[in-house]
Amino acid sequence: MNDVSCVFCKIVSGEIPSAKIYENEIVSAFLDIKPVNPGHALVVPKKHYANLYELPDEILAPFMRAARDIARALKKELGADGVNIEMNNDRPAGQIVSHAHLHVIPRKTDDGLRHWPGKEASEGEMKRIADTLAKSLV
Ligand code: AMP
Ligand code: ZN
Repeated sequence: MNDVSCVFCKIVSGEIPSAKIYENEIVSAFLDIKPVNPGHALVVPKKHYANLYELPDEILAPFMRAARDIARALKKELGADGVNIEMNNDRPAGQIVSHAHLHVIPRKTDDGLRHWPGKEASEGEMKRIADTLAKSLV
């Protein structure tokens, strides 16, 4: 069931316009209205899921496959030197639109964008965190 108040559900249903670049039975892709670089695309599942945590297994491959195909097209057709695939989940991680989406962002060698900065981490902290996560992921 799609969410009547969701902007990406409205794009999927055609209720609001978009610069669509791809669709199949499961996913749709269109250009971001505020592109980081020209060609910045968004891939969304056609059904409404809020974020990555909610996505069922059968969506994952088509979701990432579309991102891969768009990434290839950005390189081939728009001359991208590289491509970032990015997904924000929850507000503190920068998610504004609560309909799961992958950002596919074409990059140029000297486009001025920077990766997020890394922090120092002690060996003890790394081991403790790795043990906690590994136990949870068995
Ligand atoms: P996020 O911060 O990951 O939730 O990103 C949401 C993205 O959706 C932003 O980059 C917006 O520019 C983009 N966006 C919002 N509304 C639209 C729209 N109607 N058509 C295309 N992109 C949109
Ligand atoms: Zn939605």
